[in-house]
Amino acid sequence: MGFEQISVIDGDTISETDLGRQSLYSRNDLGFNKAETCRNKIEELNGLKNVVSYNFYLDSYNIEEILSGSDIVLDGTDSIRTRELINEYSVKKGIPWIMTASYGDMGQIKFIFPEKTSCLGCMINGRNLIPMNCHYDSVEPYAPQGVSVLSTSMIASFLSGKQVSGDLMFIEFGKMSVERIRIDINPGCSVCAGHEYPLLEDKKIKGRQIY
Ligand SMILES: [Zn+2]
Repeated sequence: MGFEQISVIDGDTISETDLGRQSLYSRNDLGFNKAETCRNKIEELNGLKNVVSYNFYLDSYNIEEILSGSDIVLDGTDSIRTRELINEYSVKKGIPWIMTASYGDMGQIKFIFPEKTSCLGCMINGRNLIPMNCHYDSVEPYAPQGVSVLSTSMIASFLSGKQVSGDLMFIEFGKMSVERIRIDINPGCSVCAGHEYPLLEDKKIKGRQIY
Protein backbone atom coordinates (compact mmCIF):
# COMPACT_ATOMS: atom_id res chain seq x y z
CA MET A 1 0.00 0.00 0.00
CA GLY A 2 3.02 2.30 -0.28
CA PHE A 3 3.85 2.85 3.38
CA GLU A 4 7.25 4.20 4.24
CA GLN A 5 7.27 2.18 7.44
CA ILE A 6 4.89 -0.13 9.28
CA SER A 7 5.46 -0.75 12.99
CA VAL A 8 3.96 -3.93 14.42
CA ILE A 9 3.62 -4.14 18.20
CA ASP A 10 2.75 -7.32 20.12
CA GLY A 11 4.30 -8.97 23.17
CA ASP A 12 2.33 -12.18 22.66
CA THR A 13 3.56 -15.48 21.26
CA ILE A 14 1.77 -17.63 18.69
CA SER A 15 -0.29 -20.43 20.17
CA GLU A 16 -2.30 -23.28 18.71
CA THR A 17 -5.63 -21.43 19.13
CA ASP A 18 -4.38 -18.49 17.02
CA LEU A 19 -3.83 -20.56 13.89
CA GLY A 20 -7.48 -20.78 12.83
CA ARG A 21 -8.02 -17.04 12.69
CA GLN A 22 -4.57 -15.48 12.24
CA SER A 23 -3.79 -16.69 8.77
CA LEU A 24 -0.29 -15.24 8.65
CA TYR A 25 0.91 -17.91 11.06
CA SER A 26 1.50 -21.64 10.68
CA ARG A 27 2.42 -24.55 12.96
CA ASN A 28 6.13 -23.82 12.46
CA ASP A 29 5.63 -20.45 14.14
CA LEU A 30 4.18 -21.79 17.41
CA GLY A 31 5.87 -20.24 20.43
CA PHE A 32 7.47 -17.39 18.48
CA ASN A 33 6.66 -13.72 19.00
CA LYS A 34 3.73 -12.49 16.89
CA ALA A 35 5.19 -9.12 15.88
CA GLU A 36 8.58 -10.51 14.80
CA THR A 37 6.96 -13.38 12.93
CA CYS A 38 4.61 -10.94 11.20
CA ARG A 39 7.60 -8.81 10.09
CA ASN A 40 9.43 -11.90 8.78
CA LYS A 41 6.35 -13.10 6.85
CA ILE A 42 5.79 -9.73 5.21
CA GLU A 43 9.46 -9.60 4.19
CA GLU A 44 9.15 -13.12 2.83
CA LEU A 45 5.98 -12.23 0.91
CA ASN A 46 7.07 -9.05 -0.83
CA GLY A 47 10.78 -8.58 -0.10
CA LEU A 48 10.17 -5.18 1.51
CA LYS A 49 12.16 -4.33 4.61
CA ASN A 50 9.96 -1.52 5.86
CA VAL A 51 8.33 -3.41 8.74
CA VAL A 52 9.66 -2.76 12.23
CA SER A 53 8.56 -5.12 15.01
CA TYR A 54 8.35 -4.54 18.76
CA ASN A 55 8.06 -7.74 20.78
CA PHE A 56 6.43 -6.20 23.84
CA TYR A 57 3.07 -4.70 24.73
CA LEU A 58 2.26 -1.04 24.27
CA ASP A 59 2.11 0.81 27.58
CA SER A 60 2.43 4.27 29.08
CA TYR A 61 6.23 3.91 29.21
CA ASN A 62 6.87 3.07 25.56
CA ILE A 63 3.94 4.64 23.69
CA GLU A 64 5.76 7.89 22.88
CA GLU A 65 8.80 6.10 21.46
CA ILE A 66 6.69 3.75 19.32
CA LEU A 67 3.77 5.86 18.08
CA SER A 68 5.38 9.30 17.85
CA GLY A 69 5.32 10.58 14.26
CA SER A 70 2.80 7.96 13.05
CA ASP A 71 0.37 8.95 10.28
CA ILE A 72 -2.26 6.51 11.52
CA VAL A 73 -2.58 3.79 14.18
CA LEU A 74 -4.53 0.56 13.68
CA ASP A 75 -5.65 -1.11 16.90
CA GLY A 76 -5.88 -4.89 16.89
CA THR A 77 -5.48 -5.30 20.64
CA ASP A 78 -7.59 -7.38 22.97
CA SER A 79 -7.48 -4.88 25.80
CA ILE A 80 -9.85 -2.00 26.50
CA ARG A 81 -7.18 -0.33 28.68
CA THR A 82 -4.68 -0.38 25.82
CA ARG A 83 -7.32 1.14 23.52
CA GLU A 84 -8.00 3.88 26.06
CA LEU A 85 -4.25 4.52 26.25
CA ILE A 86 -4.02 4.76 22.43
CA ASN A 87 -7.03 7.10 22.47
CA GLU A 88 -5.40 9.45 24.98
CA TYR A 89 -2.16 9.51 23.00
CA SER A 90 -3.98 10.00 19.71
CA VAL A 91 -6.06 12.89 21.05
CA LYS A 92 -3.04 14.51 22.72
CA LYS A 93 -0.93 14.30 19.53
CA GLY A 94 -3.70 14.66 16.93
CA ILE A 95 -2.94 11.25 15.37
CA PRO A 96 -5.88 9.41 13.73
CA TRP A 97 -6.47 5.81 14.77
CA ILE A 98 -8.87 2.96 14.06
CA MET A 99 -10.31 0.87 16.86
CA THR A 100 -11.19 -2.69 15.90
CA ALA A 101 -12.66 -5.60 17.85
CA SER A 102 -14.02 -9.09 17.12
CA TYR A 103 -16.27 -11.29 19.19
CA GLY A 104 -18.20 -14.40 18.14
CA ASP A 105 -19.29 -13.68 14.56
CA MET A 106 -19.37 -9.92 15.14
CA GLY A 107 -16.96 -7.07 14.62
CA GLN A 108 -16.67 -3.41 15.56
CA ILE A 109 -14.69 -0.71 13.80
CA LYS A 110 -14.46 2.97 14.64
CA PHE A 111 -12.34 5.64 12.99
CA ILE A 112 -11.16 8.32 15.39
CA PHE A 113 -9.69 11.56 14.10
CA PRO A 114 -9.10 14.01 16.97
CA GLU A 115 -11.15 17.22 16.67
CA LYS A 116 -12.94 15.89 13.56
CA THR A 117 -14.75 12.82 14.95
CA SER A 118 -15.81 11.59 18.36
CA CYS A 119 -13.14 9.67 20.28
CA LEU A 120 -13.24 6.48 22.31
CA GLY A 121 -13.80 8.56 25.46
CA CYS A 122 -16.93 10.15 23.88
CA MET A 123 -18.26 6.65 23.31
CA ILE A 124 -17.39 5.16 26.70
CA ASN A 125 -18.39 8.33 28.54
CA GLY A 126 -17.00 7.28 31.92
CA ARG A 127 -18.60 3.80 31.88
CA ASN A 128 -16.66 0.72 32.78
CA LEU A 129 -17.16 -1.36 29.66
CA ILE A 130 -16.96 -5.10 29.43
CA PRO A 131 -14.80 -5.34 26.34
CA MET A 132 -15.58 -7.45 23.32
CA ASN A 133 -12.67 -9.78 22.90
CA CYS A 134 -11.57 -13.35 22.48
CA HIS A 135 -10.98 -13.92 26.21
CA TYR A 136 -14.70 -14.08 26.89
CA ASP A 137 -16.00 -16.24 24.08
CA SER A 138 -14.91 -17.83 20.87
CA VAL A 139 -14.16 -15.78 17.80
CA GLU A 140 -15.23 -17.18 14.45
CA PRO A 141 -12.23 -17.28 12.08
CA TYR A 142 -13.88 -15.00 9.52
CA ALA A 143 -14.72 -12.21 12.01
CA PRO A 144 -11.20 -10.81 12.54
CA GLN A 145 -10.40 -11.40 8.85
CA GLY A 146 -13.46 -9.34 7.84
CA VAL A 147 -12.65 -6.61 10.35
CA SER A 148 -9.10 -6.54 9.04
CA VAL A 149 -10.20 -6.12 5.40
CA LEU A 150 -12.62 -3.31 6.28
CA SER A 151 -10.21 -1.46 8.54
CA THR A 152 -7.26 -1.61 6.13
CA SER A 153 -9.49 -0.31 3.34
CA MET A 154 -10.50 2.48 5.72
CA ILE A 155 -6.79 3.34 6.08
CA ALA A 156 -6.40 3.41 2.29
CA SER A 157 -9.43 5.71 1.95
CA PHE A 158 -8.23 8.06 4.66
CA LEU A 159 -4.66 8.29 3.34
CA SER A 160 -5.90 8.96 -0.18
CA GLY A 161 -7.82 11.99 1.12
CA LYS A 162 -11.34 10.59 1.20
CA GLN A 163 -13.74 11.53 3.96
CA VAL A 164 -14.00 8.72 6.55
CA SER A 165 -16.93 8.65 8.93
CA GLY A 166 -16.50 8.41 12.69
CA ASP A 167 -19.58 6.20 13.04
CA LEU A 168 -19.18 2.96 14.95
CA MET A 169 -19.52 0.15 12.40
CA PHE A 170 -21.14 -2.87 13.97
CA ILE A 171 -20.86 -5.91 11.72
CA GLU A 172 -22.72 -9.18 12.13
CA PHE A 173 -21.02 -11.48 9.66
CA GLY A 174 -23.51 -14.30 10.21
CA LYS A 175 -26.35 -11.99 9.17
CA MET A 176 -24.14 -10.19 6.62
CA SER A 177 -25.25 -6.91 8.10
CA VAL A 178 -23.40 -3.68 8.84
CA GLU A 179 -25.02 -1.22 11.18
CA ARG A 180 -23.60 2.29 11.45
CA ILE A 181 -24.07 3.82 14.86
CA ARG A 182 -23.61 7.58 15.00
CA ILE A 183 -21.33 8.63 17.86
CA ASP A 184 -21.30 12.40 18.26
CA ILE A 185 -18.48 14.37 19.82
CA ASN A 186 -19.35 14.51 23.51
CA PRO A 187 -18.75 18.02 24.90
CA GLY A 188 -18.35 16.41 28.34
CA CYS A 189 -15.67 13.91 27.17
CA SER A 190 -12.76 14.09 29.60
CA VAL A 191 -10.27 13.11 26.88
CA CYS A 192 -11.04 15.13 23.73
CA ALA A 193 -12.92 18.00 25.41
CA GLY A 194 -11.25 18.00 28.84
CA HIS A 195 -7.74 17.06 27.61
CA GLU A 196 -7.23 14.77 30.60
CA TYR A 197 -4.81 11.90 29.98
CA PRO A 198 -4.73 9.85 33.18
CA LEU A 199 -3.54 6.60 31.57
CA LEU A 200 -0.68 8.26 29.71
CA GLU A 201 0.50 9.72 32.98
CA ASP A 202 -0.17 6.56 35.02
CA LYS A 203 3.03 4.60 35.18
CA LYS A 204 1.10 1.54 36.36
CA ILE A 205 -0.12 1.03 32.79
CA LYS A 206 2.73 -1.30 32.02
CA GLY A 207 2.65 -4.33 29.74
CA ARG A 208 -0.59 -6.08 28.94
CA GLN A 209 -3.71 -4.46 30.35
CA ILE A 210 -6.68 -6.62 29.46
CA TYR A 211 -9.43 -5.11 31.58
ZN1 LIG B 1 -13.95 12.35 23.16
